[in-house]
Amino acid sequence: MDFLKFDSDKCSLCGICVKKCPFGALSIESNTIVLNEKCRMCRLCIRNCPEKAIHFEQQINSVDKNVWRNFLIFAEQERGDIHPVVFELLGEARKMAAKVGYQVRCVIIGGTGTSENARKLLEYGADKVYVYEHPGFETFRADCYSDAVSDCIASVKPSSVLIGATSLGRSLAPRLSTRFHTGLTADCTTLDIKANTDMIQIRPAFGGNIMAQIAITHSRPQFATVRYRVMDPAAKVPHPTSEVIRCPVSEDMVRSKIGVVSVNILEKKKTLEEEEIIVAVGRGAGNEAGAAICRELAEALGGQLAYTRPMVENGFGDTAHQIGLSGRTVRPKLIITCGVSGAIQFTSCMTGAEYIVAINNDPNAQIFKCANYCIVHDLYEIVPRLTSLVKNRKEGNDHGISL
Ligand SMILES: Cc1cc2nc3c(=O)[nH]c(=O)nc-3n(C[C@H](O)[C@H](O)[C@H](O)COP(=O)(O)OP(=O)(O)OC[C@H]3O[C@@H](n4cnc5c(N)ncnc54)[C@H](O)[C@@H]3O)c2cc1C
Repeated sequence: MDFLKFDSDKCSLCGICVKKCPFGALSIESNTIVLNEKCRMCRLCIRNCPEKAIHFEQQINSVDKNVWRNFLIFAEQERGDIHPVVFELLGEARKMAAKVGYQVRCVIIGGTGTSENARKLLEYGADKVYVYEHPGFETFRADCYSDAVSDCIASVKPSSVLIGATSLGRSLAPRLSTRFHTGLTADCTTLDIKANTDMIQIRPAFGGNIMAQIAITHSRPQFATVRYRVMDPAAKVPHPTSEVIRCPVSEDMVRSKIGVVSVNILEKKKTLEEEEIIVAVGRGAGNEAGAAICRELAEALGGQLAYTRPMVENGFGDTAHQIGLSGRTVRPKLIITCGVSGAIQFTSCMTGAEYIVAINNDPNAQIFKCANYCIVHDLYEIVPRLTSLVKNRKEGNDHGISL
């Protein structure tokens, strides 16, 4: 918090800055002005100081990296459960932590039952879990959650803070990085760490044309949000010896400027990222009839239909069902691509699938380079035959249809 400078020669300790700060970030202690992590850099104190005793200073190389240590993961809860992206963050953080001798810690915030969820994190290798449990945290309110996570960061001083790139995480992360006056890399797809503890944060940039490597070299903590389903989840540890620490929740922390008028819980639908069976349709099936036969196959398999970008651009599907750098990353058990050429912007977001079956009438199509099973054929012939094979299997009338 050394970006605001107070000139003690000019300051008369009039207290105007303390009163004007809308966030309670300033106080007078032992005849000096003290700044805490609630500062949002709105600069109202600078503008209102009658003695012109406060100024803003951007500093480079000011952080002592030895003071900021370990990983801190924000453990998001969704409908009373831990969001699965948290286990992926735990898995990746444990790999990086082993390289630099760090611990992996978590912070979890919520209403009743949060401590129970905290204990689940220990089983997946969290070394410490900090819990902020209070009825005021029952629903997500960005200001209260930011206060609680900031409180945790200010006391445990993590080197890196990892947050899932969910709707909630995307709202929380920039507020936190602004408070700590440090960098945030949003929507990372790969993470690594250097010996000097700078995290290498990789994400698509310029519309997916390049994979940018971003490092936060002069400040701490390093904030990153990470896409769901791009990393392997942590494995269970046999005998966890770690601990859950209950953190005090002040009334200030749960006092919000956001009033929740009503809560309307939407019916939970499986997202494309959570789907185990996907049929992906590309421009090779480029009309309604082609999309329809692929949809029929997806339904027969009990999965979902997904699209390449040109198919979405041509109005066949929505972006929530587009696979690729400018769409979603998927890791299903089975993906069947129909009439997809296999451009890198598509394949880089689906090669984590357990089994890839590719149908394309061009034997030189790129998609065959990453497929486990390659079917060189016209999809209009093969897809309906596959569908009837699946349906027959389900009905127990397997007559051994050969493809
Ligand atoms: C910055 C950027 C971001 C991008 N992001 C994405 C993204 O998120 N997702 C994405 O998908 N793309 C993305 N793209 C586009 C990507 O480069 C490709 O253009 C796109 O994936 C191609 O889509 P396709 O395979 O459906 O079409 P095509 O490349 O046209 O391939 C159609 C394939 O169908 C085959 N075919 C034709 N007829 C038949 C038939 N009857 N039976 C069987 N096979 C048949 C052909 O042999 C061909 O291989 C992006 C591009 C850029 C530059």
